Amino acid sequence: MSEGQDSGRLYPAEWQRGPRYSGAYTFARCPVTRDLWLADVAVIGVPMDMAVLYRSGARFGPRAIRDASGQLRPHHWEADKLEPPFDALRVIDYGDLDVFPGYIEQTVAHLQSQLAPVFDAGVFPVILGGDHSTTLPVLRACSLKHGRLSLVHFDAHPDFWPPSDSKRPVHHGTVFRIAVEEGLIDPAASVQIGIRGSVSAGILDEVRAAGFNVITCDEFSRQGVESTVRRIQEVVRHPVYVSLDIDCVDPAFAPGTGTPEVAGMTSREIVELVRGLRGINLVAFDIVEVAPAYDSAEITALLAANLVYEFLLILAQRG
Ligand code: MN
Ligand code: MN
Repeated sequence: MSEGQDSGRLYPAEWQRGPRYSGAYTFARCPVTRDLWLADVAVIGVPMDMAVLYRSGARFGPRAIRDASGQLRPHHWEADKLEPPFDALRVIDYGDLDVFPGYIEQTVAHLQSQLAPVFDAGVFPVILGGDHSTTLPVLRACSLKHGRLSLVHFDAHPDFWPPSDSKRPVHHGTVFRIAVEEGLIDPAASVQIGIRGSVSAGILDEVRAAGFNVITCDEFSRQGVESTVRRIQEVVRHPVYVSLDIDCVDPAFAPGTGTPEVAGMTSREIVELVRGLRGINLVAFDIVEVAPAYDSAEITALLAANLVYEFLLILAQRG
């Protein structure tokens, strides 16, 4: 019986068998396997950052998040209210998917085909990116399984720009325009939260004209967590895909990212927003754009790891 396994049930490695900073860097010290029949949730790395327009480095995001996740303990301070995630869920670390550096289109297609068996097995994918182009093949695979999706998109940027080259349409700023064009998501049942900075004014008009519900970071700041959560819960109606670009958070709390924008939300606020997603019909989650080279004291990676943990708590709670 290997570490982390007990009578066929998968658990994270026990701290008594070695400190939290020891052993292989798997997510929360969960066992590494591709045996999907063992799992309810698969944490999957996509080490790809060739689709960025500014600073690269998110290819090392999955590693950094796994590394920081060594601190995650298999219980929660709200244990009387929330079931510890690893009692309710069998969580595996699926490892990283194959990417071909320098070949965006080929990689995007190959990622989709690698993800299909995960969706087919009914295993909930938690995707660690990667730049935001990571989301496109996940959305495609997810939509094949679940039909049209509601998107809950946390980001400083709308990622709805038109491709500048129709032959090479994919970069990290075109993903949701392509997703709408392909009918993967229903913008009227989707919401973007946290948009700010020197994005061109016209793009927000385009996003809203496409039907998206947009809560800019200024609006979020005025209305607060509670009414934002209420709005999200009102808007979504299909199976829900959550895409969380870590740059939704202020660079004071999450500097380790390629395209930082000042005056964002706090780490506390994003945790509360994610907790507010309880009860909605989640089918997949990604967290993208963590670029450890720009991080300081691992605060960005640690936040990302904890946001994944908050998702696991939501999934554990629904059973
Ligand atoms: Mn983004
Ligand atoms: Mn962004």
